[in-house]
Amino acid sequence: MTLSLWLDKPSGKDRLEIDIAIIGGGIVGAGCAYWLSQRKNIKAALFDAGQIASGASGRNAGFLLRGMHSYYNQAIKEYGRQISKEVFQFTEENQRLIAEFAEKHGNSFEYDRSGSYLLACSVEELQNLDQSAELMLEDGFEVTYLKSDPLERGYYGALLNPGDAGLHPAKFVRAVAEASGIAIYDNEPIIRIDNNQQSGLSLITPKRIVSCQKILLCTNAYAPLLEPWFTDKVRPVRGQILVTKPLKKKILDKVCYANYGWEYFRQLPDNRFLLGGCRELHIEDEVGYTDQVTPQLQASLEDYLKERFPEAAGASVDYRWSGIMGFSDDSLPIVGELPDNPGIYFAVACNGHGMGYGINMSRLLTEVALDGKDAGPFSAKRLLSPCTPSKLSS
Ligand SMILES: Cc1cc2nc3c(=O)[nH]c(=O)nc-3n(C[C@H](O)[C@H](O)[C@H](O)COP(=O)(O)OP(=O)(O)OC[C@H]3O[C@@H](n4cnc5c(N)ncnc54)[C@H](O)[C@@H]3O)c2cc1C
Repeated sequence: MTLSLWLDKPSGKDRLEIDIAIIGGGIVGAGCAYWLSQRKNIKAALFDAGQIASGASGRNAGFLLRGMHSYYNQAIKEYGRQISKEVFQFTEENQRLIAEFAEKHGNSFEYDRSGSYLLACSVEELQNLDQSAELMLEDGFEVTYLKSDPLERGYYGALLNPGDAGLHPAKFVRAVAEASGIAIYDNEPIIRIDNNQQSGLSLITPKRIVSCQKILLCTNAYAPLLEPWFTDKVRPVRGQILVTKPLKKKILDKVCYANYGWEYFRQLPDNRFLLGGCRELHIEDEVGYTDQVTPQLQASLEDYLKERFPEAAGASVDYRWSGIMGFSDDSLPIVGELPDNPGIYFAVACNGHGMGYGINMSRLLTEVALDGKDAGPFSAKRLLSPCTPSKLSS
């Protein structure tokens, strides 16, 4: 959002003084609220331009996958074995933290540790899954390689990840925000951040001025709209989903990720069929911040259903929606402190896997901001050195 001179003043007179301001109420921002609430004597508040989980966190497929956009063998080629292992362990820890949260606060968000299938759509993809399984077992990850299609729907085989899960993402993010107990200001966009040597950090919203010592920026795809440093580092990419009416029968018992993750599907607790993806067929169109579904991409999703799940294709579609994801050049999240703006910390660019990273990533962000922890493979320092992974891989 840009800001005109005429609107560059809060209309209200409210002033708020806090220690830490969180910007963004998706999984990362809500998670930060939760982790801050575990510490003593911190006065924090969270601001969201809309409602809690109104961004990608309330618009995704609700998959809690271990890993990242690449299969393990490809990740090793791209980032090396140590980084790949660390990132996969990071997402396993994310799963553990969510299971622990459900135990402690109740499972009000349909968390179901069903396991996942990564399904091969070609011989080449199956070979990648086979190699990945071998490397993962060597590195201590629990996984099973299946050389034939467990769904009997024309896939070439699969990889079974037993710890993966599905959940209701909006209910989950709201539960996390609520468990934090911190003040939430929704429908209150941050329109500007000021960093003044004398008065310190302040946030300007349409209603008030907020003074604080630290800011945790959790706006993912929207980060470049608030802070220009992100302009060449985080790009907005749209994803689309459709959901049918409840089917008569249960036809899937796991969350499924196929064709290197370009398509993903699951059956919801009430038997609705959810399908997302097909972005690879419309790659040029699915960019930017516009929240809309397109007839072309939705037709591709429907074709996919007809080909693989005719019984779901026969059910009418109840919901179609889109969401905006933040992608980085090297496909890893970016966590750190703004180089020319001390006190402003961020965790952005979840690269379409933010539920898989989110709770652990928000814990990492609070540790970076409060304890000076290094963000490891996600550290923004990689973008400052002349030999960055993104430059190496491009
Ligand atoms: C269709 C689709 C399917 C997906 N499926 C999955 C999946 O199954 N599993 C998975 O792991 N990931 C999935 N993802 C990705 C995942 O949803 C995101 O990576 C994750 O939600 C990012 O969380 P976040 O908190 O960083 O950002 P968001 O959830 O986008 O939250 C950012 C928040 O910042 C707020 N904001 C922006 N600007 C301002 C401002 N100026 N002031 C105040 N607030 C502001 C927004 O309102 C928003 O609420 C999917 C994404 C999409 C779009």
